[in-house]
Amino acid sequence: MRIFDPHIHMTSRTTDDYERMAAAGVRAVVEPAFWLGQPRTSVDSFVDYFDSLIGWEPFRAGQFGIRHHATVALNPKEANDPRCRPVLDLLPRYLDKDGVVAVGEIGYDAMTPAEDAALAGQLALAVAHDLPALVHTPHRDKARGVERTLAVVTESGIPPGRVLVDHLNEVTVELVRDTGCWLGFSIYPETKMSPPRMVELLKRYGTERMLVNSAADWGRSDPLLTRATGEAMLLAGFDADEVDRVLWRNPVEFYSQSGRLDLTDLEDSSATFAGNSILRGGA
Ligand SMILES: [Zn+2]
Repeated sequence: MRIFDPHIHMTSRTTDDYERMAAAGVRAVVEPAFWLGQPRTSVDSFVDYFDSLIGWEPFRAGQFGIRHHATVALNPKEANDPRCRPVLDLLPRYLDKDGVVAVGEIGYDAMTPAEDAALAGQLALAVAHDLPALVHTPHRDKARGVERTLAVVTESGIPPGRVLVDHLNEVTVELVRDTGCWLGFSIYPETKMSPPRMVELLKRYGTERMLVNSAADWGRSDPLLTRATGEAMLLAGFDADEVDRVLWRNPVEFYSQSGRLDLTDLEDSSATFAGNSILRGGA
């Protein structure tokens, strides 16, 4: 099983996680810029953070055979902080970097006017830089948040096929399904979606434009829940090709729209020689 985690905050994770992810089949990740759990007090701290997302973290991932790309943005929560908003002027510099494959994560947290402005402004940046956009949806008042998100997306003029609407669930999937946007689901140990609930949604809505991520960060989360979802799919009767579509080809197709996704020379340990895989061993 080859896995592309399209939303994971590796900065908050340990080398043990990288090791376990590689062993579970994770070959590529996208790390969106987000908040750190406590407020940043100046724009300079974003500079160091963005630099690590396109420098140190891809190097660290590479040590474990995992390809790392990033998305860069002012996150929804800190869009409300006047100390952080000037970071919007810095973004164009980062949106030109090779390892940056989308604008994100942008979207709503508490649905304030400041968040409105940051979302619209950053969708305009995505259009101007010809990049896709990764859009976070709020954890509270989810349906209204998704409706408002979609309205701003439509207004921005970005083609829906270049937008990934993330953190969806049984309630909000319906709102996004027919818009042409891509649908992201974060599989969490306790909150958000679980592997069995995700499988039910895939049965009901199919695998087209559906993405599964762990959204693992500094909170209670689990970077192996992508793999667990793939296994739950197989148990439920999906075939290996359908699992590959959700866990690999869909995220590849979405982020390839940046023109910057580089998956060359990734060791393909799912390869077989005369029907034999080195992973299985001789036993
Ligand atoms: Zn996130």
